[in-house]
Amino acid sequence: MLDRRAFLEKSALLSALGFLPRAISAEEYERDVARTSAPTGFRGQPCVVSSANGINGVKLAYDRIAGGADTLDAIIAGVNLVELDPNNQSVGLGGLPNEDGVVQLDASCMHGPSRRAGAVGCLEDIATPSLVAKAVMDYTDHVMLVGEGAKRFALAVGFKPQNLLTEQSRKDWLRWKARLSDRDHWFEPESLEALKFTHGTINMNAVNAGGDLSSVTTTSGDSYKLPGRLGDSPIHGAGQYTDNSVGSAGSTGQGELNIKTCGAFLAVELLRRGVAPEQAALTVLERALAVSEKRRLDERGRPRYDLQFYVLTKDGRCAGATMYEGASFAVCDERGPRLEKCAYLFKASEHPR
Ligand code: ASP
Repeated sequence: MLDRRAFLEKSALLSALGFLPRAISAEEYERDVARTSAPTGFRGQPCVVSSANGINGVKLAYDRIAGGADTLDAIIAGVNLVELDPNNQSVGLGGLPNEDGVVQLDASCMHGPSRRAGAVGCLEDIATPSLVAKAVMDYTDHVMLVGEGAKRFALAVGFKPQNLLTEQSRKDWLRWKARLSDRDHWFEPESLEALKFTHGTINMNAVNAGGDLSSVTTTSGDSYKLPGRLGDSPIHGAGQYTDNSVGSAGSTGQGELNIKTCGAFLAVELLRRGVAPEQAALTVLERALAVSEKRRLDERGRPRYDLQFYVLTKDGRCAGATMYEGASFAVCDERGPRLEKCAYLFKASEHPR
């Protein structure tokens, strides 16, 4: 929940700076929260679910929610752990760069009770795009800012710029450059070995005991991507989605296919129709497979890529699903933080390695 005083002060400042063409008032905001919050008396299970790389973050977020924190504030604190970890090369600081050697970050979030959303794409020099996405949500009348405009906004609201390219990521980028083929396209290399460093993201979703939900996804996207490429992570309805009356969902993995599938939106819509979380996640993967271009499939129609979905219901049930057997997802509820096996469409032995 926004602190009312801080909200008013920041709104006034941003309005004066011209960032808020039509800022909502604190009264409007509170009315909105009240209107869309879970019905009084709803008692569900608090639960935080994320991609496996969020195993420490789900605990932090769960503890904050148990202590009364807003679900979105809590999960953003959870993903900040990964964004600020220089050794994680798929998110935030230390993320692998684009083909020019520049780290460009994407993130999006949704706050269920207030039905608000924010996102940034191709953000440079700011380690925590999830927080910038939330600032877009909190302090502007927009949902998404990209590129230079996103950076200017982040600096204006007080984020500090820093060099995000760590020495390790710079060396990996140079190694990649050194082995570029002479084929003039940017499709994925055929060998999965070569894909080792090309994917990674963190998605986290949470529900509190009152049934209020939030979701966030943050990434450095495909490594060595074309400058300006946006994946699914900053796209509401693809990289993450929340409907406070139903549930939340988010993804990691092959972003282009997920954009075409509107995967997170589809997962939540399936929950709305009463489909169980695991089945909802698997159905989204089947749909992604159905819209896959031929070049992304092997001769038997199996995906040459991976895609994971994480799904959470308003009453605290969750699941993860992946194309190939073997992946896990992180969850924290009253039983504590743990990794659980994802459901899958194909056995590991069927992987076209
Ligand atoms: N989904 C991310 C993207 O397409 C990458 C990933 O999760 O591996 O940008």
